[in-house]
Amino acid sequence: MDTPLLFRIPDVATAHPRETTFLSADTAEDPLPAVGVRRHRKAPETPSSVSSPSTSPPFASPPFASATSAPTPRGGPPPALRARGVTFDRIPARTALTRQTGPQAAWFDWSANPFRGCEYACGYCYARPTHAWLGHADPRDFQERIYVKEGFVAALRRELRTKVEPGQHIAFGTATDPYQPVERREGQMRGALRELAQARGLRVSITTKSNVVLRDIDLLRKVAESNSLRVNVTVTTPDARLARLLEPKAPTPSARIGVVRALSRAGVRAGLFLMPVLPGITDGDADLRHLLGSMREAGAAYVAHQTVFLEGSARPWLLGRLRAAYPRVAARYEMWTRAGRTLPAEVRQDVAARVGAIARAVGLATRMDPSAPGGRRECRENQRTFGFLSEPA
Ligand code: SF4
Repeated sequence: MDTPLLFRIPDVATAHPRETTFLSADTAEDPLPAVGVRRHRKAPETPSSVSSPSTSPPFASPPFASATSAPTPRGGPPPALRARGVTFDRIPARTALTRQTGPQAAWFDWSANPFRGCEYACGYCYARPTHAWLGHADPRDFQERIYVKEGFVAALRRELRTKVEPGQHIAFGTATDPYQPVERREGQMRGALRELAQARGLRVSITTKSNVVLRDIDLLRKVAESNSLRVNVTVTTPDARLARLLEPKAPTPSARIGVVRALSRAGVRAGLFLMPVLPGITDGDADLRHLLGSMREAGAAYVAHQTVFLEGSARPWLLGRLRAAYPRVAARYEMWTRAGRTLPAEVRQDVAARVGAIARAVGLATRMDPSAPGGRRECRENQRTFGFLSEPA
């Protein structure tokens, strides 16, 4: 059945934006220089990471303007640099790792995010509200004001020695994409991988939509020699036009499948992060079969999936974007999330059951949505089954 169990969306056919040729943000030269960027003296750290969590329109404007010429968006101090409509700045990294104590603890022990904000600008991004911790009231700032955590690698080096115990799981990219375009210039992840390559017996995961991760294949292989490493490549739909609507500045779905293929061929364990699933939009059985089948063929070792949840500024942000393209779905999401951040259990169970069935059919291992009823226990069991809780190879 190609139709989601609960409803059909008759307005989908006319909802897609016009097909256009575009550049991926990751194919563009990142303009942020390594020096001369304004530094913030103090900024709060993310209190507790949220889990997670991409082709942009042609860059009509010059790639960047200097701090002296760039306008200051929505007040605040003069920006350091602007590129592609994004202002880049620096904040000190007091810590690199955030201990997980909430529901995310079922998935990982520590989260690590080398940046604040994310240029990929996904409409469903649950991390958007975290920018309020930096004083950004406007939810657009999450994708237009990017902060580079200065000293991130040094903090990680220190914390790997003093905080992290053998067997613990560090998840990179839970509130930002660690391989978004600015990483080309900053090399935060490259520095982090050098540190991790010195560690032993850790479990490390990296979640990304970006092909920039392929730059680091050499270090990824070194990390995997003495730790358990996996790279989660997020794809929510195989439909490039729909992806552009949902993830306007991220690489195309086919580019991301290519990332899994390249990693797998290089011997780096990679899988599909089907997160979030948007019922009524991205959960058609035909699309799911296409996506999971393509990923399996590309060498993905697993699929992890979770239905969308909306809280804080993420809710009005997504609902506002869905209303024009998917008015009936938007109304339903509005109703579903009026009382809580997650969709109703029966909706999540339906998605989990169909994704699970398709995964089994194409031969992909699955991990259950830990927020679904019984899912946390099943998540742990699946983690054991698939080796995430076992001793590193
Ligand atoms: S790539 Fe991830 S962190 Fe970045 S905007 Fe999209 S969902 Fe948010």
